[in-house]
Amino acid sequence: MMRVLLLAGTTEATALAGELVERGHEVVSSFAGVTTNVADRPGEVRSGGFGGVEGLRSYLSDARIEVLVDATHPFAAVMPHHAAAAAAAAGLPHVRLLRPGWEQGSANRWVRVGSMAEAATTLAELAPRCAFLAVGRQQVAAFQGLTMRLVVRSIEPVEADLADAVFVRQRGPFTLEGELALMLDNGVEVMVTKDAGGTATQAKLIAARELGITVVMVERPAQPDGVTVLGTVAEATAFVGQMAGRPTTAGTTSAESREPA
Ligand code: NAP
Repeated sequence: MMRVLLLAGTTEATALAGELVERGHEVVSSFAGVTTNVADRPGEVRSGGFGGVEGLRSYLSDARIEVLVDATHPFAAVMPHHAAAAAAAAGLPHVRLLRPGWEQGSANRWVRVGSMAEAATTLAELAPRCAFLAVGRQQVAAFQGLTMRLVVRSIEPVEADLADAVFVRQRGPFTLEGELALMLDNGVEVMVTKDAGGTATQAKLIAARELGITVVMVERPAQPDGVTVLGTVAEATAFVGQMAGRPTTAGTTSAESREPA
């Protein structure tokens, strides 16, 4: 049995908590505390930042953590770097669970950009009558100053000074029918999204393709160097099992790792 700190905030983290607890590991799921209504999950739950790398290193020691699994969102730009530094300082095994990004099919009309600021500039150049911002509420401020109608979807309410906005509060997963209706009803011509990957929010890409809508795709932030990246919950389950020095019944054959992008 291992005592695992699981940096959460994703569907993969929720699934991994269940898999690990089922196998007898002690799991502490950690949330940043930015969203309310965090779903119940097996094991312990804590909420709020650690106070930087040093705070996390102290926590790892105080809470007697033996393995660190970073299953934060692909767009968490800071926490993966803190996790890598703190785990190295504490001498703990550490992996990054990171779902693969979406792949562009030949029928998709994507413009890839490196940041939200670049997405806003691109949107201004494309000048649609209406754009759909599927980027999360914390990123909406980057689009202040644009004059086109913006359909803004978020889980929590958005505070942003937008000239012409329609706010839609929804939590995924989303259906293709729902995404088609949202885009058609609002006359969406361009969609901005992050390359989050996974299936829970993929329907918007299929809807955009079917409607011929251009997608401004914001690429992921850089991952820390030298950290093992695992793409699936089964691989992360197997990794923790290996750390405990015992066989695991996780679905895939081995903890295949690849270098971070
Ligand atoms: P971030 O920029 O990487 O992290 C900012 C700070 O939030 C970190 O320095 C850390 O504070 C704290 N933090 C982040 N994740 C934490 C966790 N799991 N447990 C405890 N503290 C955490 O992350 P973010 O983009 O603000 O995202 C915050 C959370 O929302 C993450 O858990 C992420 O998985 C989830 N999320 C993010 C996105 C997104 O698009 N960014 C989307 C869906 C879910 P200290 O330095 O004080 O430790």
